[in-house]
Amino acid sequence: MYDLIIIGSGPSGLTAGVFAACYKLNHLIIGKQIGGQLNLATNILNYPGFSEIPGPKLVELIVAQTKTRGSEIVTEEVIAIKKITDGFNVITKNSTFQTKVLILATGTERRKLNVPGEVKYTGRGVYYCANCEPFLYEGKEVVIAGGGNAGLQAAVSVIDKAKNVTLLEVGEQLRAEGVWIDKIKNNPKVVILTKSKIVSIDGDEQWVRNIVINQNGEQKTLTAHALFVEIGGVPGTALVTPLGLELTQKGFIAVDHTMQTSIPAVFAAGDIVGDGLSLEQLSTAVGLGARAAASAFFYLKRTNAPIVWGKAEIRRV
Ligand SMILES: Cc1cc2nc3c(=O)[nH]c(=O)nc-3n(C[C@H](O)[C@H](O)[C@H](O)COP(=O)(O)OP(=O)(O)OC[C@H]3O[C@@H](n4cnc5c(N)ncnc54)[C@H](O)[C@@H]3O)c2cc1C
Repeated sequence: MYDLIIIGSGPSGLTAGVFAACYKLNHLIIGKQIGGQLNLATNILNYPGFSEIPGPKLVELIVAQTKTRGSEIVTEEVIAIKKITDGFNVITKNSTFQTKVLILATGTERRKLNVPGEVKYTGRGVYYCANCEPFLYEGKEVVIAGGGNAGLQAAVSVIDKAKNVTLLEVGEQLRAEGVWIDKIKNNPKVVILTKSKIVSIDGDEQWVRNIVINQNGEQKTLTAHALFVEIGGVPGTALVTPLGLELTQKGFIAVDHTMQTSIPAVFAAGDIVGDGLSLEQLSTAVGLGARAAASAFFYLKRTNAPIVWGKAEIRRV
């Protein structure tokens, strides 16, 4: 039986692994995709120590550090978690692992627009990762939904190859950090439309051709060959719903300031816990991962006995 299993191998889970290794916990990281969303980040400008670094490069560095410290990583999807007398069974397609303590760091899934045409054209003009599909927008008219950091990063990564880029933001102004806005604001190939919401996605039998938007009450049709949806993530809590964990009103896992969830011996960290400030970012994720690992360590020290199931009180700060 492991002392600790960390589910999720994004930046938060990997950082929890670095700390768990430093605490000498017998631990395992299980994740579907090493690096998580960091693989989608074109260029990170706000992570201390690197004035600019592509997300996948940072993933390599974090994984190397995690392995050097002694973490064991298994690349698999966890399909179920079951309570047992003195801990948990963590079940993947191929194996069952046992642990005394859990850290959930399963991040978020890409948020969908939920408009007509989205499902039909997904993969045929509608994409959720500008960075992953560079050949799809060469010489094309591109629309990007989302005026946050991810939307602006997408615009920066496609702008050289695309014929033009229309960036849609539902609010009155862009939400991205100024450093990203500076990179596109004077580019003649970029049009920014605020107060603009996508109503539907239209096309022929094969591909997207038009995006219908509502701009401040007025309906307009934009020509588009590719639509990148960059409107953030929704917490992926399906795995933990059967455990009966308390969630926040917005659907994130509820934790106290030690990352303790409503079930003893279960901690959570990273984007899956949100933070109430919409700062689901790398620095936040690694900080919370570190804190969860420290809490797991002190929990194990404190409870040198079989875990007693019950509902823990969440102390909010
Ligand atoms: C396009 C884009 C650009 C970004 N740019 C920046 C930036 O410039 N600066 C910045 O600070 N932040 C940026 N971010 C945000 C940053 O990447 C996230 O805040 C961070 O990755 C969150 O880390 P996490 O470990 O909590 O979750 P994630 O990165 O989402 O990792 C969660 C991991 O858990 C795994 N997982 C989920 N369910 C299961 C399961 N059932 N079994 C096993 N594994 C599972 C997932 O596969 C994933 O590997 C960007 C995000 C995107 C999408």
